Amino acid sequence: MDKLKIIVCVKQVPAQTDVMMDQEKGTLIREGVLSEVNPFDMYAIEEAIRLKEKYGGEVDVISMGPPQTETALRESLAMGCDNAILLTDKKFAGADTLATAYTLASGIRKIGDYDIIMCGLKTTDGDTGQVGASLAEELDIPFIGYIRKIIDLKEKSISLERVLDDYYEIVESKLPVLITVTKEANEPRYPSFKRQKMAKDAPILSWNLEDVGGKEERYGTKGSPTEVIKIFPPPVRGEGEIIKDKPDNQAKILIEKLKEKKIL
Ligand SMILES: Cc1cc2nc3c(=O)[nH]c(=O)nc-3n(C[C@H](O)[C@H](O)[C@H](O)COP(=O)(O)OP(=O)(O)OC[C@H]3O[C@@H](n4cnc5c(N)ncnc54)[C@H](O)[C@@H]3O)c2cc1C
Repeated sequence: MDKLKIIVCVKQVPAQTDVMMDQEKGTLIREGVLSEVNPFDMYAIEEAIRLKEKYGGEVDVISMGPPQTETALRESLAMGCDNAILLTDKKFAGADTLATAYTLASGIRKIGDYDIIMCGLKTTDGDTGQVGASLAEELDIPFIGYIRKIIDLKEKSISLERVLDDYYEIVESKLPVLITVTKEANEPRYPSFKRQKMAKDAPILSWNLEDVGGKEERYGTKGSPTEVIKIFPPPVRGEGEIIKDKPDNQAKILIEKLKEKKIL
């Protein structure tokens, strides 16, 4: 096929050991916490690099976030992506999933032609799994989720295996297409020392609202119809109680206790 072009969307998330919430504002605290590439996105990056290794072409990685998101893009370059684009502007801040998809779509339109867009299944912080599908809708291209295997790639089409609840499904789509990649797809590689060194100084394109264009009212808080009313950890469950008695009595005692608590 002609030069294959893949774009991988990567989000920087708080490291899983470091998630904290601002319960008053209803948002995650992102300042001053350790960050990492969203673990689910590593499978999308790996799959994109494997396709490039098989068919040639290039892989762009794109992220929307504050300037420190550059670290996540450098990690992606170290793994094997070729070009990195950071969409960053104060006007992008406070985006819900709809505004995030709009922003990514604007950046991708500026990149130009592409064959495949890959996203992670979901993120470890927002965890909605909505951005991939919304982005495909925004770009008006097919969306196929839960991919565990790319079976074949042709000039204008791709066949894929996707995971459903009780079985696998083989689907074919025309290109360009947006897919989300599952953990079953591969084992993400650890970057070589040489690539890590190269990625440290690699150029990263930084685009703001003026660069990508689009409607200002569709970005950031203005473009976000949803609002988090409250965010809170689930209540801590009390310790369980072990009923120590003869088996016959255990059931009777349990029934009494459930009645006391008006569960029965
Ligand atoms: C109702 C609501 C309100 C929110 N309000 C705020 C807020 O005020 N401030 C705030 O900071 N956050 C806010 N968020 C979080 C913010 O919307 C999410 O970080 C963002 O929309 C992505 O959603 P997600 O994490 O659920 O991604 P998912 O849909 O779970 O992600 C799926 C895939 O999409 C791609 N992707 C997702 N986000 C990005 C990105 N930024 N760049 C590149 N690729 C990406 C990745 O490949 C990822 O694996 C809000 C979220 C919701 C649901």
